[in-house]
Amino acid sequence: MKKNWICILTICGLLTACNAKKAADNPEPQNTEIAAKSEGIDGLTDEQVAEGRDCENATTMTRFVACANEALRRTVSASEQMNWAYMTNINAETEAAVTKSETELMAERSKLMEAANKFKASDAQNDDELRQWNKIRTDTTQPPPKDPAKRERLAEISAKLMGYYGSAKSCDGAVCRDLGALSKVLETSRNPEEMKAAWLGWHNAFDSQKPLYQEFVSLANEGSRDIGFKDLSEVWLAGYDASSEEIRAQVNELWEELKPLYEQLHCYVRAKLAQTYGEDVVPLNKPIPAHLLGNMWAQEWNNIYSIVIPHPNAPNIDATPKIKETMQPIDIVHNVENFYTSIGFKPLPESFYTHSMFVKPADREVVCHASAWDLDTKGDVRIKMCIEPNLENLTTIQHEMGHIYYYLYYNDLPFVYQNGANDGFHEGIGDTVTLSMTPKYLKEIGLIESLPSDESCKTKKCAAAMVDTMTKMTINQQMQSALEKIAFLPFGLLIDEWRWRVFDGSIPPEKYNEAWWQLREELQGVSAPEPRDENHFDAGAKYHVPGNTPYLRYFLARVLQFQFHKALCDAAGHVGPLHECSIYQSKKAGEKLIAMLSKGSSQPWQKTLEEMTGSPKMSAAAMIEYYQPLIQYLKEQNQGRTCEFSFEKPIENKKAEKKVSQNAKVASDLKPPIPMKPMLSCYNRCTKEYYQVPSGSGCVNIVLCENDF
Ligand SMILES: [Zn+2]
Repeated sequence: MKKNWICILTICGLLTACNAKKAADNPEPQNTEIAAKSEGIDGLTDEQVAEGRDCENATTMTRFVACANEALRRTVSASEQMNWAYMTNINAETEAAVTKSETELMAERSKLMEAANKFKASDAQNDDELRQWNKIRTDTTQPPPKDPAKRERLAEISAKLMGYYGSAKSCDGAVCRDLGALSKVLETSRNPEEMKAAWLGWHNAFDSQKPLYQEFVSLANEGSRDIGFKDLSEVWLAGYDASSEEIRAQVNELWEELKPLYEQLHCYVRAKLAQTYGEDVVPLNKPIPAHLLGNMWAQEWNNIYSIVIPHPNAPNIDATPKIKETMQPIDIVHNVENFYTSIGFKPLPESFYTHSMFVKPADREVVCHASAWDLDTKGDVRIKMCIEPNLENLTTIQHEMGHIYYYLYYNDLPFVYQNGANDGFHEGIGDTVTLSMTPKYLKEIGLIESLPSDESCKTKKCAAAMVDTMTKMTINQQMQSALEKIAFLPFGLLIDEWRWRVFDGSIPPEKYNEAWWQLREELQGVSAPEPRDENHFDAGAKYHVPGNTPYLRYFLARVLQFQFHKALCDAAGHVGPLHECSIYQSKKAGEKLIAMLSKGSSQPWQKTLEEMTGSPKMSAAAMIEYYQPLIQYLKEQNQGRTCEFSFEKPIENKKAEKKVSQNAKVASDLKPPIPMKPMLSCYNRCTKEYYQVPSGSGCVNIVLCENDF
């Protein structure tokens, strides 16, 4: 329930790291004396409840929940004040203050979690109380074990893992490069050997971290069992208002819907990379080597847009020149606010403009990563960012503003409900609004001067040429967007897919790296630049693993934003292709969005989603609809190419295998499945079970068990 949403999380990790250590060193405050003097109702006086003090003395869940809400509100707000002071003015004093406040927050949280666990579900007077109680007791990504020594060790390991990540470097003699420098190589170089060296440099830096992570898993699992869960994956999934099996099955269903789309993009990009680097570097029947996609984890591929651009000669829609020419940082923020108020959102409070940080100050060190803050849950919201006037920054502010308005609209709820309906919602709101920034919208607000149009044409030939140009521009634009949003999907899924299995023990430590690369190949279609054995710990080279930050939210946000966009466009009465819809100035769309934000997490997200979209299920249909022009283009381009993932066998065996696959499915429909031995290299897949074909060398998928994730 951390209140500021830092969208690039490296700094947050470092902060928490040093604080976790301090927290372990601090004994918890003793309140027995005050407790003895308490003469209030149900163990607490009204004053204590109003001030969120001594909540552990409550003897009924009703009083406890009321007290805990206030205690959390106060401690989180105090901690956010200190964090803000630190991140906008880094010095020894603010660092000490932030460490102290974070320590207090951690102590308060553990105290409340422990106190919450003295109650049981049947103590709740109603469903709402039960819901609040559950949120208090599961408000953690790593429940500490009851045993004090183990508790301390867990805090120590977490700090070490994150501290190591933050300071990791790849050194060649005296020359050392950090993540920023190594990433730069992957983003800008077009020399495969140079990129491979950068990739290996970063990943090899984490070989030493595996034993620590293994110990972390064991202790965090113990802590999870101590509060009544099977393992840590169950704690993480407890926030999704369904059983962990149901959520995993739903997520898998979404991926099955989206996979054909990803496969088309992957196939096209692989072919383009092969044209650029040669088929010896990028073979057409194998996964794409991970170091060639412009990103350390191959998670988003925007940096190779120039390699894969569909129509290099089509005009470019770029609002940046106009933004540079006409806008100061604050104008960009106003511009974004205008979008939100145009759909009926309330204007931002005056304090937002006086307290936010939009420009990098000249006189002090600050953290420039864009983030959105709620400092007191009473309207003191802020953005912190060093704004450069360009379209990318305008889009980032659109994203942050989604968080800001979520804060403002759910501020009236009890503190534990001041959150996204599920964690994918919070990340998806701003992006939903960004989908409305169509070329037509940019023209309407004067950020681009003109768009090609067939309206001025007098001849059919001219009109046809114009339509052709517009189509090409759309394809280019959708490709740019897909390299970020579609390319990310399997990665967004696999980080937690790997961890859920690590936590539940189905991936044992001696298979950490093997299983990691199986998932990366099978979901992402990406391979390591060279074989990686168990001496490496490649999952540890992604911040969220040592930082212990759940990752599913990013996958969900990518999908949900299109589902929201579709619902809002329907409300706005949009007619035409979904990618051309902008909800700008639609009060009806705004009303719908506000209704959703105002609910926070006070009810199951399925209900909130249903009120918004008409369906309680997350669906990928809108995302697929949005990308229709690109999908058609990719299908045309990929004609004659083998795009489905199946990397174990030569390309020419593909047809024969497909036949076997279909036969196997038919056979399974007719009679009970013959038990076959799962093949290790094929076992990791969602609703499908993978079997070795008795006569062949590859994997065949048979849809057998819907619930087997
Ligand atoms: Zn965000």
